[in-house]
Amino acid sequence: MNAYKHVVYWHDTEQVTVEAPLRETVDCDVCIVGGGFTGLWTAYFLKEAEPALDIRIVEANHSGYGASGRADGFVTPTIGKDIQALVKEFGLQRALEASQAVGRSILEIGRFTRRNRVDAEYEANDYLMVATDAAQLKRLRHDRELAERMGAARAEILTREESRAVIGSPAILAGMRTGGALVNPFKLARGLARVVREKGVIIYDKSPCLRVEPGVRPTVITTGGRVTADKVVLATNVHMDAFPPFRRKVVPIWTYAMVSEPLTDAQLARVRWPGREGMVEAKSLLTCARFTHDNRVMFAGGPAPYYFGRDKRQRNMNRTEVYREIHREFLRFFPMWADLRFTYAYGGTADVVRDYAPHFGSLGGGGILYGYGYCGNGIAATHTGGKVLRDLTLGKDTDYTRLLFVDDERRKPPADFPPEPALYVGARAMARLMDWKESRP
Ligand SMILES: Cc1cc2nc3c(=O)[nH]c(=O)nc-3n(C[C@H](O)[C@H](O)[C@H](O)COP(=O)(O)OP(=O)(O)OC[C@H]3O[C@@H](n4cnc5c(N)ncnc54)[C@H](O)[C@@H]3O)c2cc1C
Repeated sequence: MNAYKHVVYWHDTEQVTVEAPLRETVDCDVCIVGGGFTGLWTAYFLKEAEPALDIRIVEANHSGYGASGRADGFVTPTIGKDIQALVKEFGLQRALEASQAVGRSILEIGRFTRRNRVDAEYEANDYLMVATDAAQLKRLRHDRELAERMGAARAEILTREESRAVIGSPAILAGMRTGGALVNPFKLARGLARVVREKGVIIYDKSPCLRVEPGVRPTVITTGGRVTADKVVLATNVHMDAFPPFRRKVVPIWTYAMVSEPLTDAQLARVRWPGREGMVEAKSLLTCARFTHDNRVMFAGGPAPYYFGRDKRQRNMNRTEVYREIHREFLRFFPMWADLRFTYAYGGTADVVRDYAPHFGSLGGGGILYGYGYCGNGIAATHTGGKVLRDLTLGKDTDYTRLLFVDDERRKPPADFPPEPALYVGARAMARLMDWKESRP
């Protein structure tokens, strides 16, 4: 009988001091709703551009509480679902421009942590996309072909032996090295919140926004107060459905992770993995693996369930059947670690939109802005997204506001998902269909 802690592993790596909630009526230049990466990077880039701006963030819990602080920590150039879907939807040129911007974000996040002494355990490791069957190998080749057409220098398929010299798993048949990094996402979010506060941004924790009253100057109503601002930025990710215009635009898809005890030297020696690369399986409902800073193994992904009624409640972290499946997959990759004890088992929700790529833009008169729809790939994309929201907030037409992220004359907001019960039936069928399609060579 396993006694897992259904607590986000990263949350145990950093103590949280909760900021005071909003308990008054406030007037400011920009009010951001949501203190995850999207909201925090937006505040950061706005302050960098215009230090005098009065910016307030209202956060339902505390900074990094949401997806940002529970991500698996793979900082990758992926936008939305994957590169194939992106190119299919937007064409090679637009996909390339966005991928390059997000690629730059990977390096800039590293630079940010060094300059601001944010100990986010940033490791500038590549990751290895791996194939474990013929269908995945085909997908890997397709990805490589796209990467090559997009000018990537190091896109090369590694043989079975070459791949296993990088990560010594007997399940791996081929691999492709891709640029990226690993991070402790909670420490990154907490550090970013600290830097943003030092720049003069006021963050109100425990201040859920109940609604936004539109107007020339919109007003954010929280449980304890009100903020009227020139611009309001909605950055609540999977909780965007709380606001009427987004009610049916986003669905919460659960994604789970397990984290082991720190490995002993003897356990570490059993698997060749000298470069500590992140490992990502080449399929949609992928599994991925990495070391944490203190040499635990994180194994994540696998089933990506949707629960009836857009259920985002934390009690869904307690799903024995999911962890059984993830552990089975873990043993397929690493049978030599059968004795590894997993202590943490938890999950979070990714914000999936109908066309599988982020949406940024403004509502009506332009006073209310938004950014969401990362589909589970948002650590680097939120950094780029922060620049997009900076420029949209300042009313500037820049290279960032012309990226595919932005709803404009070229891109419509995402189509609505159907109401329940059709949503539940459709989401479950879609997951099964995806798995079936991708298992065929
Ligand atoms: C389990 C998991 C693993 C992931 N792993 C990776 C990964 O390895 N690599 C990667 O690139 N991406 C990953 N992602 C995706 C990535 O974490 C997200 O795309 C990214 O963090 C989104 O940032 P955000 O700021 O938009 O959202 P969030 O971090 O969710 O922030 C939104 C914030 O808004 C707050 N909020 C919600 N409603 C309200 C309200 N009404 N009023 C005030 N505040 C509110 C929430 O409390 C939250 O703090 C993962 C996601 C999950 C769930």
